[in-house]
Amino acid sequence: MEFDVAVIGCGVSGAAIARRLSMYSIKIAILEKAADVSFGTSKANSGIIHGGFHHNKKYLKARLEIQGNMMFDQLKRELKFPFRRCGIIVAALHNDDLKILEHLYIQGLENDCLGIELCSHQRILELEPKLSSDVVGGLFAPAGGIIEPYLFVFALLESALKNGAELFTNFKVNDANRTDNDFWNIDAKDGRNIKARYVINAAGLFADEVSKIFDAEEYTITARKGEYYLLDRLTKACPSRVVFPVPNPVSKGMLVIPTVEGTVLVGPTADAVESKEDFSTTTKHLEQILVSGKELIPFLSHNDVIANFAGLRPCLDDDFYIEASAKAPAFVQVAGIQSPGLTASPAIAEYVKHILLEMGLQLTEKPGWDPYVDDRPFVRELSLEELDNHISKDSAWGNIICRCENVSEAEIIQAVKLGHFTLDGIKYFTRAQMGRCQGGFCTYKIIKIIMRETGLSWDEVTKHGGSSNVLKDML
Ligand SMILES: Cc1cc2nc3c(=O)[nH]c(=O)nc-3n(C[C@H](O)[C@H](O)[C@H](O)COP(=O)(O)OP(=O)(O)OC[C@H]3O[C@@H](n4cnc5c(N)ncnc54)[C@H](O)[C@@H]3O)c2cc1C
Repeated sequence: MEFDVAVIGCGVSGAAIARRLSMYSIKIAILEKAADVSFGTSKANSGIIHGGFHHNKKYLKARLEIQGNMMFDQLKRELKFPFRRCGIIVAALHNDDLKILEHLYIQGLENDCLGIELCSHQRILELEPKLSSDVVGGLFAPAGGIIEPYLFVFALLESALKNGAELFTNFKVNDANRTDNDFWNIDAKDGRNIKARYVINAAGLFADEVSKIFDAEEYTITARKGEYYLLDRLTKACPSRVVFPVPNPVSKGMLVIPTVEGTVLVGPTADAVESKEDFSTTTKHLEQILVSGKELIPFLSHNDVIANFAGLRPCLDDDFYIEASAKAPAFVQVAGIQSPGLTASPAIAEYVKHILLEMGLQLTEKPGWDPYVDDRPFVRELSLEELDNHISKDSAWGNIICRCENVSEAEIIQAVKLGHFTLDGIKYFTRAQMGRCQGGFCTYKIIKIIMRETGLSWDEVTKHGGSSNVLKDML
């Protein structure tokens, strides 16, 4: 159990770093406290690959955002996750907002944001006809795009594992000390232990606690909540591009976002919360979301809402904190990764690789490193002939478990075999339970498949690990 590098946390930052390092002949351990990966901030966000105009280039996050954005086309070819460069629009509804638009435009030019355009009322409506006719002008950033964030993390991880990295789930880093031969001795809460020469702290909201465990810098991460409404794919309010309002000093504002799977997200709010576990949503905030969303796209209707959820931003200062620790040896901080962390993640990985090189880690390219993951069929993307072909080889392809999202038994088995055997893990991997009925019809069928494929008993199946058991003996 001796590794060259231990990456603590498997959100998008940890997964991207592990995958980047898997190119080299080193041993990598990924330590994740949850039952599956991408269960932290990386699962609940807007899924936008930002266009590179929201932040001044004096910030590291602005530079990594542009670099990360540019890396997504190649990553999509290698990792086969859904990604669409649909472009981003910022819509101004008042003449006073035009000054802010101009500022964003100049900032975008300074950041080398490709193809950015300042638009008139007519031009912006041409680019997005669903916008309110009250729009007075806008900004268009064609390089912006959308992804399913958890599928991106799953793909990064799959690639890292294929190239030799090892994942330890339910591994909550609880204690650490230095050994005589310059290794970190890392203990999990459940008593497991690994040793690593270098440690990357990519623990998101809990990076401050992990830093303390390693006697590194002291800082405090606070949580800022973002609540969302998810709209059914049948909504008339689905724009063809991501639509932002003009930003305010605290956040980028409440947006209307087409998802790569055809549904629509509206949100997020931005409210400081005490608890890093507070994912509650409130009627007041959700109403606020619809009112703001309707100002941009009047077609938005409460009738199209199928779910609501919240994500927590890990707030530190104004910028990412990515540095070798000045206090703890062989320890790298990857903290305060708020937006645009998803966009920047491949560039964060590149940046961390350089920090490790400067710290003295030897990185020799691994012969036979394979950048590609396997092509994976999904029923919703197959033609009838292709589906018939799959069913003739395995009848599980014909057994549709989730009718809303058209997910077959074969896809759920595939998810379980890849290590996703909580209800949420299966939901994020396959989309089963994500449609209009939100699992009302398929959850019990999925539980039966999990039990059959894993040997778990009915009371051991969980929603997202830990004590989130779904069925309880009431007798
Ligand atoms: C509302 C909202 C909207 C956003 N929208 C966008 C967007 O559209 N585009 C964009 O680019 N960015 C966006 N972001 C930002 C983006 O989601 C984050 O920057 C990114 O997900 C951070 O990833 P991470 O891996 O650093 O953290 P996380 O995803 O939180 O991962 C940290 C991991 O560490 C694990 N962990 C914690 N403590 C321990 C421990 N002691 N031991 C082991 N494991 C531990 C956690 O379980 C977790 O899995 C948004 C964020 C929010 C909240």
